[in-house]
Amino acid sequence: MEKQKNWAGNLIYQARQWHEPASIEEIQAIVRQANKVRVVGSRHSFNEIADSEDAIISLVRFNRILSLDRQQQTVTIEGGVRYGELSAFLQDQGFALSNMASLPHISVVGACATATHGSGDRNQCLSSSVKAMSVITADGELVNFFRDKHKEEWNGVVVSLGALGVVTELTLDIVPSYQVSQYVFEHLSFSELEQHVDDIFSSAYSVSLFTTWQEDEINQVWLKQICSEDESSDVRTDLYGASSAKKNSHPIMGVNAVNCTEQMGVPGPWFDRLPHFRLDFMPSSGSELQSEYLIPREYALEAIQALRTMRHEIAPLLHTNEFRTVAKDDLWLSPSYQQDVMGIHLTWKDKWEDVQRVLPQIEAVLKPFQARPHWGKLFTMPKERVQSFYEKLPAFRQLLQAYDPKGKFRNAFINTYIF
Ligand SMILES: Cc1cc2nc3c(=O)[nH]c(=O)nc-3n(C[C@H](O)[C@H](O)[C@H](O)COP(=O)(O)OP(=O)(O)OC[C@H]3O[C@@H](n4cnc5c(N)ncnc54)[C@H](O)[C@@H]3O)c2cc1C
Repeated sequence: MEKQKNWAGNLIYQARQWHEPASIEEIQAIVRQANKVRVVGSRHSFNEIADSEDAIISLVRFNRILSLDRQQQTVTIEGGVRYGELSAFLQDQGFALSNMASLPHISVVGACATATHGSGDRNQCLSSSVKAMSVITADGELVNFFRDKHKEEWNGVVVSLGALGVVTELTLDIVPSYQVSQYVFEHLSFSELEQHVDDIFSSAYSVSLFTTWQEDEINQVWLKQICSEDESSDVRTDLYGASSAKKNSHPIMGVNAVNCTEQMGVPGPWFDRLPHFRLDFMPSSGSELQSEYLIPREYALEAIQALRTMRHEIAPLLHTNEFRTVAKDDLWLSPSYQQDVMGIHLTWKDKWEDVQRVLPQIEAVLKPFQARPHWGKLFTMPKERVQSFYEKLPAFRQLLQAYDPKGKFRNAFINTYIF
């Protein structure tokens, strides 16, 4: 079997068998027979989270949108659907998602399994929109989980890191469709950021700050503002001294802005503004690695200042550093569990040996701020440290024990960071 890779190409999956089943019965048979099994989504994670020493199941053939409930405002999809296809469908039907990550290319289930997030002071991670899930567990049985029915257990089920079983169907909350306009501001000084950090993060529905650390400034501030169809929301030319960009921008210097969603305040549908990148184009740089640390919101400024002291070490390896806010939730393994957080996202050049050297330094600098890594990205933090952030870890272990007593869905990543 030819070995498969993740999206970034930095990881070759070690699985000996690769399955692309076409029916629920086929998935059940694979699960029953397998000694060890994992599921991959759209393969956008950068670490071994989705890998398996034995079998991997890909749900690429499970890409149908199953139903829309207008009354309840929910949509039900199969386990391999990507945000891109889901959002086009929802828009056609007059509905929307309340938030999206930076790209629509990722699978919904894969994103929700790792607590993937977008930005916005009031926006929770994407997993918070999940309302029901159908999962094939280790014994091959199909189990239905519901947010309203499973109450406490539910909070362990959604951000499962793929360890609960094969998610074959997912129901999400939706909202009526809305319009968003996007503005980019350039050259925000640190002195302005220091004085107005909370105002800046709350100045739009979704806010992203970008710096390459080449200059001692925030290079770009992206504001995504909900607006009505015919209105270019209230156009501002200045954001605390940062001036509005004169044309569309890409967060990575030198990459063509055609890959990015429309800016300059032009109103457009939510799915074509909330992600930074367009579905039919390469997201981000394409040749890259990513790390991200989530820190309690109250440390936002101190953490940015701490990173600033390392800017000369970071800058040569970096495409861009993005800061985003995420609202708290109740999901046990979410890095924003019961705490508003700020994400410190680093898009690295594809230079793992060098990145691997700088990550422990970054983790040390961010240690006072309780920085916990994104589950789907690269980090070097010891497992004890990672585990210390999750007070509900014992309950999550029990949950896995109940549905998968022999650890069929556990791989090296799960054994290291969870058990
Ligand atoms: C260019 C780029 C931009 C990104 N932007 C963001 C961002 O804005 N915000 C953010 O938070 N993250 C971001 N990420 C990270 C990404 O969202 C996560 O890594 C996410 O998990 C990827 O989803 P996936 O479908 O590719 O999952 P995979 O990497 O394929 O899998 C991730 C996990 O989901 C599990 N899984 C997938 N499908 C199933 C299923 N059907 N049943 C059970 N388990 C399943 C896997 O076992 C694994 O544990 C970005 C990544 C890239 C490459």
